[in-house]
Amino acid sequence: MTRPPLTLFLAAPRGFCAGVDRAIKIVEMALEKWGAPVYVRHEIVHNRYVVDGLRAKGAVFVEELDDCPPDRPVIFSAHGVPKSVPAEAARREMVYVDATCPLVSKVHIEAQRHAENGLQMIMIGHKGHPETIGTMGQLPDGDVLLVETVDDVARVAVRDPERIAYVTQTTLSVDDTADIVSALRARFPAIVGPHKEDICYATTNRQEAVKAIAPKVDAMLVVGAPNSSNSRRLVEVAARAGCGYSQLVQRAGDIDWRALEGARAIGLTAGASAPETLVNEVIEAINARFDVTVDHVETAVENVEFKVPRILRQPA
Ligand code: SF4
Repeated sequence: MTRPPLTLFLAAPRGFCAGVDRAIKIVEMALEKWGAPVYVRHEIVHNRYVVDGLRAKGAVFVEELDDCPPDRPVIFSAHGVPKSVPAEAARREMVYVDATCPLVSKVHIEAQRHAENGLQMIMIGHKGHPETIGTMGQLPDGDVLLVETVDDVARVAVRDPERIAYVTQTTLSVDDTADIVSALRARFPAIVGPHKEDICYATTNRQEAVKAIAPKVDAMLVVGAPNSSNSRRLVEVAARAGCGYSQLVQRAGDIDWRALEGARAIGLTAGASAPETLVNEVIEAINARFDVTVDHVETAVENVEFKVPRILRQPA
């Protein structure tokens, strides 16, 4: 059977960011240092393949601190946690390691600084996402107002429109967030915000690469998990940038081949929590059905690296 010709536009950067890389390393180093089991509160990063791999090495994933025995180390996920979580771990005299991405911690610090200066905080983010819960949880319950959409901006009730500030989740759509920030500035001209928005370099770069590819392809495949915010945003960004069909796939087995029938050009990227092994699996599956020419589209070069916490660099 002859395979139809296809150009595969491979996005770069794609896949793991420095925060995800560091979080996975933290779990691996904790297992080496303390042996199994090591407990992890929430999926360390939003990817089943990664989580299953760490589980096989002895990590135990739980949703709440109460599910961890007090005599085993616990790690907090890359998304960050409310202040009450490390406080409770300390109260229970547990050994804990915080794998919160330093770029998320930076947002936590911003929120606290604004609150100390007497400003009421607005968070632009997705309700229920662990990062949003963690950032809002840096301040007492009810102190941070959540805004998810431009429409929410018209409804938000602030104490004093002259004394407010905003922070954002790090994994939002750059364009949607710009619209929300414009609406906030139009309604509250005195609002204080970050110099640049809080969306991180990895989210921004992956969205830029998708925007460069989307107009050239019949379909875009995004390797990532359904609960990964930045992966889902890549699917939306592709659609908005003119790609007629974009699909989130966790593994090659999820690809809807019927939707790709007749395609001559496909784009491929991966969310910040998706390992390159899964991208390679998808490439192999495409190769099996098409006569593929790969075109690398690199819109940024990343060389960010974060250190693991000191406790893991010290001998046991
Ligand atoms: S997506 Fe950005 S904020 Fe989230 S872990 Fe990666 S680098 Fe950190």
